[in-house]
Amino acid sequence: MTAPLRASDPIVVNVALGERSYDIHIGRGLLASLGQKIAALRPGAKVAIVTDETVMRHHLAAAEATLATAGITATSVTVPPGESSKSFPVLERVCEALIAARVERADLVLALGGGVIGDLAGFAAAILRRGLDYVQVPTTLLAQVDSSVGGKTAIDSSHGKNLIGAFHQPVLVLADTALLDTLSPRQFRAGYAEVAKYGLIGDAAFFSWLDANWRDVFAGGPAREHAIAVSCRMKAAIVSRDERETGERALLNLGHTFGHALEAGAGFSDRLLHGEAISLGMALAFRLSVNLGLCPGQDAERFIAHLKAVGLPSAISDITGARPSPGELIRHMAHDKKVMDGQLTFILLKGLGKAFVTRDVPLEAVKSVLT
Ligand code: NAD
Repeated sequence: MTAPLRASDPIVVNVALGERSYDIHIGRGLLASLGQKIAALRPGAKVAIVTDETVMRHHLAAAEATLATAGITATSVTVPPGESSKSFPVLERVCEALIAARVERADLVLALGGGVIGDLAGFAAAILRRGLDYVQVPTTLLAQVDSSVGGKTAIDSSHGKNLIGAFHQPVLVLADTALLDTLSPRQFRAGYAEVAKYGLIGDAAFFSWLDANWRDVFAGGPAREHAIAVSCRMKAAIVSRDERETGERALLNLGHTFGHALEAGAGFSDRLLHGEAISLGMALAFRLSVNLGLCPGQDAERFIAHLKAVGLPSAISDITGARPSPGELIRHMAHDKKVMDGQLTFILLKGLGKAFVTRDVPLEAVKSVLT
């Protein structure tokens, strides 16, 4: 993990899932090779690109150009940016557009965008014509290290996030780290929360490396590729062992029980981006672990100091505008997918790199960290 970094050789990480295995390609400038890779993977397939209006302005022309160079016929459908596109009306629009474009069973859907587009296009691919294959070209840091890998696809319900979806693995993920150069610093930072999460889950040495090198990750270059590769390797290994989240994969939800409730409490608005909510959720999970006597206080302090140095939120008071009350947050948590038999599931910590899953958390202790 902490081996010396070399300048920009593309990195390939395999997600080993038997006949549904696929590669994640990571490197600067890889988008130019997308057409060639797709032509080799699915000779003769048409490609239907799903993207959002912002990503379209920055990167659609380059994606279309690489497909055209490889002789691939492509169409595209563009949706508004943001979480509100993970909805039934937008899903319907995407499905109808793909059917109108005569996308057939042997063709490919291409998700060109952040986690919203990956989740939406992946779900459309899962249900269209009883299942089309799809390719992820993630354009946010969050999508490159997390949402484009592992096959979770979904839209949101009025009852909560990601409640309508399917497991549907992509056939290829191409993470061109140069695409992140157009991302706003705030969005990059929010995605970084998911990178830090991998250090917390099971790799304290990676956390220490991030603590020393996060500025280089933000600046770009080999440190960025390295951080993305370590994150993808860890996610790929966990997904290979537990694709359907019956056990270990739940660790990837560190910070999410709190995070989803905080996002809902902030009205899924720009006041709190998904990655920011996860940052805050991880800090709360750490504080809860310390309060329950499970974890040394200095580990929590070190992690929270790291979030602050990076500029990520670590306390509910960091949310701008009206803050959600503890009661409201608990109500949102009760709708979470991670509720089983009325009991909330939490990922807590015994220290840096030592996360574990538990359903044995007193409600009073949860309320007290939310206050
Ligand atoms: P996003 O897709 O909304 O992208 C954030 C913003 O950045 C958008 O406005 C988008 O238009 C813009 N953008 C994207 N790429 C850009 C680029 N290269 N240059 C400039 N602007 C760009 O948000 P996100 O943070 O990528 O993803 C959040 C979503 O991911 C949430 O819906 C969350 O539930 C989901 N998610 C899914 C999984 C999974 O396993 N499927 C995991 C984590 C998160």
